Amino acid sequence: PDGLPPLAALETARLDWQRDDSGEAAPRSTAFDDVYFSRHDGRAETEHVFLAANRLPERFRAWREARPFVVGETGFGTGLNMLCAWACFDTQAPAGARLHLLSTERFPLTREDLARALAAWPDLGPRAATLVAQWPEPVAGVHRLWLDERVTLDLHFGDAAERLGLLDGRVDAWFLDGFAPARNPEMWRPELFAAMAARSRPGATFATFTCAGVVKRGLAAAGFAWRKVPGFGRKREMLAGEIAAPPLDERRTRTPWFTPPAARPPRHVAVIGAGIAGASAAAALARRGIAVTLIDRFDRASLGETHLQGALYVKLAVDTNLQSRTYLAGLLHSRRWLERLDPEQRLWRPSGVLQLALSEREQARQARFLSNHPLPESVVRGLDAEAASAVAGIEVPGPALDYPCAAWVRPLSLCTHLAATSGVAFRQGEVTALERDADGWRLGLADGEGLRADQVVVAGASEAAGFAQTAALPLQPVRGQVSQLAVPEVAPTLGRVVCAGGYVPPAADGVLNFGATFAPGETDPAAREADHAANLAELARGLPAFVEALRAAGADLSPARLTGRVGVRAASPDKSPYAGPVPDAEAWREDYAALARDATRVPDITGRHHEGLWISAAHGSRGLASAPLCAELIASMICDEPLPLEQPLVDHLHPGRRLIRDLIQGKHDSAS
Ligand code: SAM
Repeated sequence: PDGLPPLAALETARLDWQRDDSGEAAPRSTAFDDVYFSRHDGRAETEHVFLAANRLPERFRAWREARPFVVGETGFGTGLNMLCAWACFDTQAPAGARLHLLSTERFPLTREDLARALAAWPDLGPRAATLVAQWPEPVAGVHRLWLDERVTLDLHFGDAAERLGLLDGRVDAWFLDGFAPARNPEMWRPELFAAMAARSRPGATFATFTCAGVVKRGLAAAGFAWRKVPGFGRKREMLAGEIAAPPLDERRTRTPWFTPPAARPPRHVAVIGAGIAGASAAAALARRGIAVTLIDRFDRASLGETHLQGALYVKLAVDTNLQSRTYLAGLLHSRRWLERLDPEQRLWRPSGVLQLALSEREQARQARFLSNHPLPESVVRGLDAEAASAVAGIEVPGPALDYPCAAWVRPLSLCTHLAATSGVAFRQGEVTALERDADGWRLGLADGEGLRADQVVVAGASEAAGFAQTAALPLQPVRGQVSQLAVPEVAPTLGRVVCAGGYVPPAADGVLNFGATFAPGETDPAAREADHAANLAELARGLPAFVEALRAAGADLSPARLTGRVGVRAASPDKSPYAGPVPDAEAWREDYAALARDATRVPDITGRHHEGLWISAAHGSRGLASAPLCAELIASMICDEPLPLEQPLVDHLHPGRRLIRDLIQGKHDSAS
């Protein structure tokens, strides 16, 4: 009902390694009884069938657009085709050009098999290593990888037709791969060709190794013109072609308000707010060659060493709803993003997170959660009290969910690091007004100065709703206080971040962080003794043995002796972030007023937005999981790229979702 297929377990590929003509072992699928490539001439075949027949060398050479060239593929397999496209782009494309690769895969290889298969091509070694290092967990969904400064790869794990049906983005050239139609008829079905057509740019090309009748008929029915061209080696023929006029995307006819504004890639963007949402957005834009001014009223450099640690983890709903699917995607994304951003782990540690179940109710909730979430154990698993104690490094009072892929992060240092990204200029100041004129946006600052930008991303916490344009987006401040304790060297160290009501990461540099309080509606920035006492009580509830051990080691646990840090987060009414274009609320009230009378009569009016104004806010206390993915989402929207989330999740994050719901519910109010 929410537009996403159920969260199903993904099977990994079952391979055997057969000697081919050259006597070398090549991967072969036992399920499909077909090969991934020929070790003898697989490279040459890829170059002939997929690269040359799509005219990629010429098209890469001529690529001058601000947006990236987009290659789409069915059947990622070992990634050979995509690595070859990347290599070709490197040798052909002019400076400044960018490439976006996206590929679906229903049976991902294990990381070990992937590395072994790609070892066949020593000259692709460094590229293969980049891919293997970021290889995602086998979880259905979109996984974004950064191959280098110019090249991005989105892996859409799941069935090709289903995944392309959920894709928000359009493709310039298709690699139609997958095992032979006779061995894999399920993939080569009409829905696949229809989804390819609907996600094509006008003039998009395709190439495929096969000439099977079902493929020719499917392509033609979907609107592709095909022709036979000489195949590779002993194969006489293959297919290539294009689609001149792709069909309209019908998916948002029932929700026209979510249609994004036409992209106009900017030269200069101002980002307001240098917390995790703003700093990650600034870095994502700068990586795309856009000049960014990052503005915050605080200069982080002045904060000094704070020892603050945050937890990268999520508390997922028992049932897989859109919100929890978004957070799951965010968790996996942040983990990969941190690994690439800071391989030396100065800003974070892959500690994992243990979510304790302290009551019977919570134990039942966790059990139901596990049965609804067929996820790999490397992402989340259930542990009994004994096993949980073993990973925590201290006795815990009950069973737990263990998220081995979660982490702790130094959030302030992370933001400072992101703000120092090349292409980002930091400006201390308080933005008090936003005005749009014919040349773009003018930002008024409290010190009387002004600043111009082509586009603006609003990313403050609860202040994000403080502008005339964002005032219609409800945001509630939530005060949170973290307590800090100097721990004696002899105290035990936790093996995981441990969460129950609050969280406590393993102590680092002699400081233990624990908290945080959660006070909706409060904004007081000063630390309070009563909050330290509440944090201590919560710590003792979840980890009594740990608190005992701290005492025994000589730690002073009186609330008056603790130091702390206060943060004011912001939450939306439905507790999901706002990430996307800022709706023009007045225009929406006018355009969609009729929905209040009859919600089934959807006006054929595309959502009007404040042109070039974006928001990433309402990340609550889960910003480490949600903000980096929202940053990628917004940067991708701004730069006219395929989006890193399925379309229903993109719409779930749309800042106008509440507005339109209220407009529709106006009908229920007057009818009742
Ligand atoms: N392009 C690959 C490469 O460069 O290594 C080779 C592709 S291999 C011959 C075919 C791939 O299609 C396999 O990885 C297989 O798991 C995948 N596949 C099969 N059925 C699929 C489906 N319905 N949706 C997505 N991928 C599928």
